[in-house]
Amino acid sequence: MTLGRFAPSPTGVLHLGNLRTALASWLSARKAGGDWLIRMEDVDGPRCRRDLGEAQLRDLAALGLESDGPVVWQSGRSEAYREALARLHRANRLYPCVCTRKDLQVLASAPHAEDGLRPYPGRCRTRDWEGFDRALRFHLPGGPVHWEDCILGLQVDAPEALTGDPLLFRRDGCFAYHLVVVVDDGAQGVTEVVRGADLRSVTATQIRLQEALGLLRPAYAHLGMVLAPDGGRLGKRAGAMGLEALAARGIPSAEILGWLGWSLGCLTQPEACIATDLIGAFHWDRVPRNEVRVPESWT
Ligand SMILES: [Zn+2]
Repeated sequence: MTLGRFAPSPTGVLHLGNLRTALASWLSARKAGGDWLIRMEDVDGPRCRRDLGEAQLRDLAALGLESDGPVVWQSGRSEAYREALARLHRANRLYPCVCTRKDLQVLASAPHAEDGLRPYPGRCRTRDWEGFDRALRFHLPGGPVHWEDCILGLQVDAPEALTGDPLLFRRDGCFAYHLVVVVDDGAQGVTEVVRGADLRSVTATQIRLQEALGLLRPAYAHLGMVLAPDGGRLGKRAGAMGLEALAARGIPSAEILGWLGWSLGCLTQPEACIATDLIGAFHWDRVPRNEVRVPESWT
C-alpha cells in the first residue's frame, strides 16, 4: 500500500512551496488509495518550536490535509536514532569527525549540499573510533546510485561528489537530518517521498544510508521550486507568507488550493476548490518539472 508523508521542520510558517509539497504528497497517496502521515522534523535544537509545529498542523488541516496516524515528533525518537548509529558502528560505517565548521565551510544544520556547501572531503575517515559522543560521519561506499524519480525520471548520481560522507550526529548532541529522515521513513514504512528539488542532491546519499541500515527504498518525487513572481527565491515579501498572511490579504484557502492544484497539473486554470476535488486528476505525468512563480497579485 502507498504510504506518503510530509515532514516539515517546525521552525517557521509553512510557505507556498511547503504547502505545494504537502498537497502533492497527499494527492499521490490518496489517488493510490493509500495513507498519508505528517512527521515533525524537530531535531535541530532550539530553532524548532512546538508552537510553530502546531501552527503548521493547523494550516495543513485548513487545506484538508490531515495525518492518517499520530503525528510523530522526531525529538521523541532519540532511542531509534541511537540504535541506528550503533548498527552502523557495528558494520564499520561510522567514524568520528573533528573538522570544525570553519574547516569545511559547511553549515552543519543545512540539510543539503547546495547553496555553496561542498561535499565533505573525507579527511577524518581514518580516525580511530572514540565513542558515540563525538561528531559522527557515515562512510559512503563508492560508485554511482541509480534511482527513478516520479517527476524527473531516471537519475544517476555519485553521492560522494554531492554530499560526501554525511554527518549523522553532531558535536552539539543533535541527530543530523540524513539520519533521522532515513530512519523514520524506514520505521514508518513510507513508500513515497515527495519533496522540493532543492533536496534532490541528497537522495543518493540517503539511499546509501538506507542500504546500510537494511531499509526499503521509497519512491522519490522532486518538485520544481516555488519562486517569487520575479523568479527569485521566496523571500519575506513574495510568497513566503503562510495561509494566515494570505488570508489577511483576502486570499482564502480555497483559492490557494486551486492555484496549488493548477500548478500540479490537476486543473486547467486556477479556480477555488477543496483538496478532494483534485484527487481524480492528479498524476505524476501531469506534474510539470519546471519551477512555478507565485502570482504577482498575492505579494
Ligand atoms: Zn572531519
